[in-house]
Amino acid sequence: MGNIVAIVGRPNVGKSTFFNRLIQRREAIVDAVSGVTRDRHYGKSDWNGREFSVIDTGGYAIGSDDAFEAEIDKQVVLAIEEADVIIFMVDVEGGISPMDEDVAQLLRKVKKPVFLTVNKVDNGAREEQAMEFYSLGLGEYYTIAGINGSGTGDLLDAVVKALPEVEEVEEEELPRFAVVGRPNAGKSSFINALIGEERYIVTDIAGTTRDSIDTRYNRFGFEFNLVDTAGIRRKTKVKEDIEFYSVMRSVRAIEHADVCLLILDATRGFDGQVQNIFWLAQRNRKGIVILVNKWDLLEKETNTMKEFEAKIRREIEPFTDVPIVFISVLNKQRIFKAMETAVEVYKNRSKKIKTSVLNETLLPMIENYPPPAYKGKYVKIKFITQLPTPQPQFAFFCNLPQYVRDPYKRFLENKLRDEFDFKGVPISVYMRKK
Ligand code: GDP
Ligand code: GDP
Repeated sequence: MGNIVAIVGRPNVGKSTFFNRLIQRREAIVDAVSGVTRDRHYGKSDWNGREFSVIDTGGYAIGSDDAFEAEIDKQVVLAIEEADVIIFMVDVEGGISPMDEDVAQLLRKVKKPVFLTVNKVDNGAREEQAMEFYSLGLGEYYTIAGINGSGTGDLLDAVVKALPEVEEVEEEELPRFAVVGRPNAGKSSFINALIGEERYIVTDIAGTTRDSIDTRYNRFGFEFNLVDTAGIRRKTKVKEDIEFYSVMRSVRAIEHADVCLLILDATRGFDGQVQNIFWLAQRNRKGIVILVNKWDLLEKETNTMKEFEAKIRREIEPFTDVPIVFISVLNKQRIFKAMETAVEVYKNRSKKIKTSVLNETLLPMIENYPPPAYKGKYVKIKFITQLPTPQPQFAFFCNLPQYVRDPYKRFLENKLRDEFDFKGVPISVYMRKK
């Protein structure tokens, strides 16, 4: 199951313009609630019903021109390794630059689908100009104008067609956990504390293919798969801890997990990058446990923990029904509790509520507090059912689904949470015509 699309290319070709177009709709919603800053370079998108994560590799470079170039090379290499599909963007206005040639050289060796995309093709003359990009040796190309969206439909048709098939639900019902967070939050230490030396037992000895990214563990009576330990192992060799690297890791791990253990460093708090990872997991509808690590380092007074927790909850509104566990990997404090909580979240995520129970519980509540009339019309909810999806989704059948607004949907979601315990799990509420 792979769903990561990386956009690579030199600065100013229009990557972020195109990226913003891809994630626009969802982003608007998320930004409003989370107050996330503009420096976001990854998000969730969909086209023709296929969902995928998008990474804009452009935004992480800093420093001098030379450092910049080296940095871009590094990002392209990582993108090639971690992504399932690569969009290589060039700019018809600027023509072929040496940096384009460098990137093309890297990409020519790649076995994954690469889509050479010529941007800023705003008119017919530029369509002709675009032909020079054949010389990059990457074959056919797509022409788009990211600024107004022209040509992007054809490109996206091809991109989603090239995404690997979503794998069938495994018969083995083991939770898949991913440990995610910023560099230095304590991810490797946590994993070490959890699985000890076994992390060095390599299941795919050759280590060349990245197909098997789950490794199975049995620890403290918990059975689970840890997603992407191969990458974590590799990290001991690749000493770099650049943010971009960790973002790539996180996105990939989140895509493959059922539950994300989001680790943060208590001394740094729930900052913007941590929030980005949180919302990515939420939009992927994965279970989430927040682990506040290095709790040993904080000077604590009576209310320190309460206040810390309240602050996080404010940041994650309206999805506040998430467990927060304070741990110290160093002192081996509450590691067990963390795992126990992750297992609970996994169970919550796979929970199926019987239709009869749903209706008996919720219909009377809806009767007491019906959806407000909209444009003089009354909405009548008649029937509720949970959809047979891997994560909780509920359909509310009614006469006028389009008239039910978000606040009321949130009311329904809250009732579901109050009654059935979906702690740590994003749930979806759909209104359907009946
Ligand atoms: P990035 O550095 O690759 O992320 O590039 P940006 O997305 O920041 O775009 C660089 C510049 O190109 C900005 O001034 C954009 O407005 C402009 N640009 C992006 N897409 C188009 C396009 O389709 N046509 C034209 N004419 N300009 C574009
Ligand atoms: P990663 O980059 O997220 O994998 O983080 P590491 O596991 O490499 O940890 C980064 C640093 O934080 C290391 O020096 C750890 O020893 C330290 N560290 C990890 N957990 C704790 C903790 O609970 N308390 C303290 N004081 N330090 C910790």
